[in-house]
Amino acid sequence: MQQPHPNPALAASVLVLNRGYMAVHIVNVRRAFGLLYRALAEVLDVDEGQFANYDFATWLEISELRAEERKAEDDWISSVSFDVQVPRVIRLTRFDRVPKHTLRFNRRNLFARDNNSCQYCGTNLPSSQLSMDHVMPRSRGGETSWENVVCCCVSCNSRKGNHTPHEAKMRLLRQPKRPRQSPLLAAKLKNPKYATWRTFLGSSTMDVA
Ligand SMILES: [Zn+2]
Repeated sequence: MQQPHPNPALAASVLVLNRGYMAVHIVNVRRAFGLLYRALAEVLDVDEGQFANYDFATWLEISELRAEERKAEDDWISSVSFDVQVPRVIRLTRFDRVPKHTLRFNRRNLFARDNNSCQYCGTNLPSSQLSMDHVMPRSRGGETSWENVVCCCVSCNSRKGNHTPHEAKMRLLRQPKRPRQSPLLAAKLKNPKYATWRTFLGSSTMDVA
């Protein structure tokens, strides 16, 4: 069970780019500062539309200057003697590889695709009260895939049982498809906090762990 963060800034995510400015993955704030501290990464900051690269020492100085006029969408963490702004994007200074991104089919991504709502009755529920339904039942050759599995509430799931929607006289609200982009990533990209990510992730199929 994950403990709530004492400082919500620590729950923020940081986008990691490789040396060639391609998105590699998304890490938490602690990991990002670890990479910066060990000089394995630098901050890629956007200020008034301009990108600038900073090593960790410079970033600490910039944070000191900016601490006076903090923007609402920025996150800050405090150490004993000073405050540091949480960077949104960092760039690995020695890593060139281009990772292959594939969106994993799993419960978390599936529920996010379906907005945590039952695809038969439309009820919106927490993940713990939802299940995965095979539209064409598994026992009848139905695949476990984006196209054949939907988010489903317990009562629709038991009503449907081992039947096709047609046999059970149930109707899917929409045809299930593989999402073009990770639904969790798409949600983050809508958040003004992560506006700078759009430059690097606009069409990315990166998965978000
Ligand atoms: Zn339902």
